[in-house]
Amino acid sequence: MSDLPQRHEPEHLVMLRETLRRFVEREMPRDRVKQWDRQEQFPVAVHRGLVELGLTGLTVDEEYGGSGRDITAMVVAIEELSARSMAVACAYIQSACYAGLNISDVGSDEQKRTLLPRVATEGLMFSYGFSEPDVGADVASVRTTALRRDDSVIIDGNKRFCSGAGIAQYIYVLARTGKVEERYRNLSLILVPTDAPGLTLQPQETLGLKGGGTFDVTFNQVAVPASNVVGGDAGWNDGWLRLVGPGLDIEKLEVAAMALGISRAAVDDAWLYAQQRQQFGKPICAIQSIRHMLAEVKTRWEACRLMTYHAAGLVAQRQPAAVDTAMTKLFVCDTARDIVLICQQIMGAYGYVGDFDMERYVRDILVMPILGGSSAIQKNNIANRLGLPR
Ligand SMILES: Cc1cc2nc3c(=O)[nH]c(=O)nc-3n(C[C@H](O)[C@H](O)[C@H](O)COP(=O)(O)OP(=O)(O)OC[C@H]3O[C@@H](n4cnc5c(N)ncnc54)[C@H](O)[C@@H]3O)c2cc1C
Repeated sequence: MSDLPQRHEPEHLVMLRETLRRFVEREMPRDRVKQWDRQEQFPVAVHRGLVELGLTGLTVDEEYGGSGRDITAMVVAIEELSARSMAVACAYIQSACYAGLNISDVGSDEQKRTLLPRVATEGLMFSYGFSEPDVGADVASVRTTALRRDDSVIIDGNKRFCSGAGIAQYIYVLARTGKVEERYRNLSLILVPTDAPGLTLQPQETLGLKGGGTFDVTFNQVAVPASNVVGGDAGWNDGWLRLVGPGLDIEKLEVAAMALGISRAAVDDAWLYAQQRQQFGKPICAIQSIRHMLAEVKTRWEACRLMTYHAAGLVAQRQPAAVDTAMTKLFVCDTARDIVLICQQIMGAYGYVGDFDMERYVRDILVMPILGGSSAIQKNNIANRLGLPR
């Protein structure tokens, strides 16, 4: 359990952390977490346990069966779960954030009525289908198409890097629904069930983020009801605004919270290891260079924590936060990666082998500056939004 300071947190967040830490120690012991990672398993029962604790309801309004939207609590949950297992944390995000928050923000009334209660009580999970083989940072250039045919929508194309598609009930497919020239206007987000005829999943091999898996998804004449267009009729050709609005701001926060959790675990483990490992007749934490590294990672982590919860507070109060979330994603993910690599160095050879969790933290943290808009893209966002002339 972390001995890092958790200052100035309201009582309900302190209680949430305590509940989660007890849950993690009981349901997610280190040996089981290692097994989920090694065997690429998703622990369904643990996800159900989180649903029973009401964790997926943290992003769902009370009228739909949740406990009311609490963005800061959601970030606390992501940090706590990520400090132990990305197999669990990613699935939680797929449910509370992708399904709960996004449908609350941009879904139609019918989608809110039918889907949100299932997020709160069943832990319904969605996956993001934005990237494609030839589409990375330039998300608006997607080539997957969706055509309206009577009351249906027919989808054709290929998506790549759909995290958790194998455990999700739906994929948000970003599809071209009109002329390519009007690239930001003719896009729609469509909810496609993962068991729809014509949809095939192919797992991709990744260095980290094991558990829910990452998939190539092919859509061959996949038909879904037109009511699955996110936002209903109003969402047709309006997918870009539904995507880049609150959804992507919050996604930056989610990724920062994951990085915060992983790096916290790395700091805790390195701190403990340095006190136990003896060389030259004394614990290595007595060596000045190791002491300095330990002091440095604690300090950098604290800066990451402050930045993440500051941005979370702005989003929670529905203040404009696009610049703050971009800065947070950039700084926290890059810094957390550096923190984990320093912690690995502190543990020497044991930071590199399977006996300890450090090698997993390294594998998991490396993707954080890439996911959800790379660090370079965040720098573009910050400079552009602050009006820097080109
Ligand atoms: C494990 C994993 C899980 C993922 N999960 C999902 C998911 O669930 N759903 C999903 O849709 N996608 C997912 N992704 C994809 C991820 O969001 C993309 O990797 C990301 O958007 C960047 O795209 P790219 O890697 O193809 O890089 P590219 O866009 O090809 O960029 C390559 C390099 O060029 C830089 N670059 C590109 N354009 C610019 C620019 N304009 N200015 C400055 N630098 C630039 C990038 O920063 C990068 O360094 C996942 C990826 C991984 C590895």
